[in-house]
Amino acid sequence: MPDDMVDAHIRGVRNALAAGWRVLAGGGSALDAVEEAVVIMEDDETFDAGRGSFLNRDGRVQLDSLIMEGSTLRAGGVGCVEHLRNPVRAARKILSASPHVYFVGEGAEKFAAQHGIPLCQNEDLVIPREVERLREYQKQHPDKMADMFAPPSSDDVTISHDTVGAVALDGKGNIAAATSTGGTLNKAPGRLGDSSLIGCGCYADNLSAAASTTGWGEPIMKLVLAKWTADRVAAGNLPEWSAQEAMNYLKQRVNGHGGIIVLDPEGRLGIAHNTPRMAWAYKTTQKEDAGVERNASP
Ligand code: ASP
Repeated sequence: MPDDMVDAHIRGVRNALAAGWRVLAGGGSALDAVEEAVVIMEDDETFDAGRGSFLNRDGRVQLDSLIMEGSTLRAGGVGCVEHLRNPVRAARKILSASPHVYFVGEGAEKFAAQHGIPLCQNEDLVIPREVERLREYQKQHPDKMADMFAPPSSDDVTISHDTVGAVALDGKGNIAAATSTGGTLNKAPGRLGDSSLIGCGCYADNLSAAASTTGWGEPIMKLVLAKWTADRVAAGNLPEWSAQEAMNYLKQRVNGHGGIIVLDPEGRLGIAHNTPRMAWAYKTTQKEDAGVERNASP
């Protein structure tokens, strides 16, 4: 995250926090709260989700999202959708209105349209900043196979990850998580990352924890990192430690970079990243905070 984007990120996560909190304060569910928080960030061009996402190799926006409810383990996911402004809304519809869990591409868009979610043009999701970013990237990396998350040196932590995610605990003691992304810059069309895969980029189970991850998706999915972290919480570790351990594991095992937010049904929270920065915000009945660096406990 470059210096000149820090304020926009903090504003963005604070707006998302406010939207999620409004739901919870009104007696709403954790599931509704994470959906509303993620919608705000999808609508905010600062982030790699919804409009303003990174472009794939063909200059198109291709989006993935997952939402999961900890009390029932119901989940809904969409992958590689190109005509939805808010993929998390479609994911939520799948969770609540379909016997299936995951739809991709045209089938996902058809399902969304049939359930009252309007489709848009792919061009509506593309912004000039990203056209320029892709052009620059392709100029510097004429090798068509390169993508932003597999840099020549995977120790290059200056690469950016801008997926959005939210975790929440409601008044009934239920937790939920949601994640949404445009994926990686210059990705191959049809490439799916970790974000919308259950247990990789997102997970929620009242018996363990809710978690959402960001970062280089291929390493994260190999470790099924969100579930790995939730399992550590279930085994008795605090979310703040589990989040940090997840980042250590990601680096040590597969040389990956990213970040994670974790919340257990007791309201204990973990935020960690092994990139220089990750925007985060949280609110409890006692406390509220936001920032772009987090390596200590909340
Ligand atoms: N995890 C996402 C992906 O690989 C990217 C990100 O977090 O920014 O698709």
